[in-house]
Amino acid sequence: MADREVDLFVIGGGSGGVRAARIAAGYGARVILAEEYRVGGTCVIRGCVPKKLLVYASRFSHDFEEAAGFGWTVGEPSFDWATLIANKDKEIARLEAAYTANLDRAKVTIVKSRAVLDDAHTVRLLATGERVHAKHILVATGAAPSMGHGVAGIEHVISSNEAFHLTELPKRILIQGGGYIAVEFACIFAGLGSEVTLVYRGENILRGFDDEVRAHLRHEMERRGIKIICKRIVEAIEKVDHGLCVELSDHDDILVDRVMFATGRRPNIAGLGLETTGVRIDEKGAVAVDAFSRTSVPHIYAVGDVTDRLALTPIAIREGHAFADTVFGGKPTAVDHVNVPTAVFSEPEVGVVGLSEAQARERLPKVDVYATTFRSMRTAFLGGEARMLMKLVVDGMTDRVVGCHLVGPDAGELIQVIGIAVKMKATKADFDATVAVHPTIAEELVTLRTVTRSHVREAAE
Ligand code: NDP
Repeated sequence: MADREVDLFVIGGGSGGVRAARIAAGYGARVILAEEYRVGGTCVIRGCVPKKLLVYASRFSHDFEEAAGFGWTVGEPSFDWATLIANKDKEIARLEAAYTANLDRAKVTIVKSRAVLDDAHTVRLLATGERVHAKHILVATGAAPSMGHGVAGIEHVISSNEAFHLTELPKRILIQGGGYIAVEFACIFAGLGSEVTLVYRGENILRGFDDEVRAHLRHEMERRGIKIICKRIVEAIEKVDHGLCVELSDHDDILVDRVMFATGRRPNIAGLGLETTGVRIDEKGAVAVDAFSRTSVPHIYAVGDVTDRLALTPIAIREGHAFADTVFGGKPTAVDHVNVPTAVFSEPEVGVVGLSEAQARERLPKVDVYATTFRSMRTAFLGGEARMLMKLVVDGMTDRVVGCHLVGPDAGELIQVIGIAVKMKATKADFDATVAVHPTIAEELVTLRTVTRSHVREAAE
């Protein structure tokens, strides 16, 4: 016999779970949400939010350097890691409290406990042993860093989780991986003054992004002093007198103070008791769901990173909201995963929406590319070398802008707005018809008059 009965039991208090719980409760459902760590999940506690605070901190080094060109005299800047981390922790605690208060206001019962499934309708709270009978269950347990295959000395390696709580800024750090997290942390540490080496197993960082973006960002990161080593992996890590000695696959040794792996994340499904329910797990180890986030068991749903569809916070939030609308609001809603704008908070930033040039060439008979690189007004004034990349990928048959790729200041802010135009199926002519805002960086997007190159698919291709 269960001790309590609810309409919805949400396992996981991250972006997806919190939104689903709040909206479902708003529809009148009796909701319990269980979170074993801290309310807010990866994004708020050890992901997007603290990361962005570190990104802000890391950019001051450039600002101080550039200030002199504008007439400022800045004394010798010094940076205190402990102050940054303490202030970051204070802000995260504030946000966690706000999330908790929002759930309380929505009359969601929060239980600070790990929750496991005893069967398809019964959830057990490990903290108290209480068993809850739930009409619906939402699995929103997120994902955790995957440290790859076990190399010798893996115990010396940190993930992004630990990077947020280091007691001091490493003088030298080696980061393995070429995805969002590796690139972002490489830029954060470099901006704060660390000597950074990034080791990536493939040809170039940010696999899956537009090739021109990858090349441009790599060049800019290298120009800022980050050492990028591709086509290598970390073979072993050994603790030595003055730090950690990292052996790469080409037998080169690199001496650093910290080693961080950002080699992907795996869905949190272990030990949840999902096997007692018959919920299908897909070949990637994620909970398999349909367009409405429903698992193979009709009253059990899953949203966010545990489903490994598109591991982005705003997507998890939408999936959680859509689930609540579907199940408790009588409005079946599927989340649209197409043309999702995204940003990499590297230095410089990357902003992307839609198809890369290569993807467009695979899918469309004719593709026109408009691309430019240029120095911003600020950079040119200061005699700097950093160049911005702007690129529009256009369907040559319909004139529709199917992709936009930016590398440079505020690319993340810009791509949010361009994402609306791309989502609305704006054409290149619409971009051209829009008057420039002068003087801005973004105006280049509406003044790209000349086709850089066109690809026409041959009949036999
Ligand atoms: P990614 O999947 O983006 O990148 C993982 C990287 O590690 C890839 O470069 C991959 O190489 C490499 N890799 C994987 N396994 C191994 C291995 N065994 N040995 C060596 N290298 C390996 O994961 P992240 O951890 O960077 O980020 C996870 C997700 O979180 C992202 O996909 C993104 O969706 C989300 N995120 C979003 C952010 C944002 O919106 N700004 C910020 C941070 C994370 P290969 O390319 O060859 O597969």
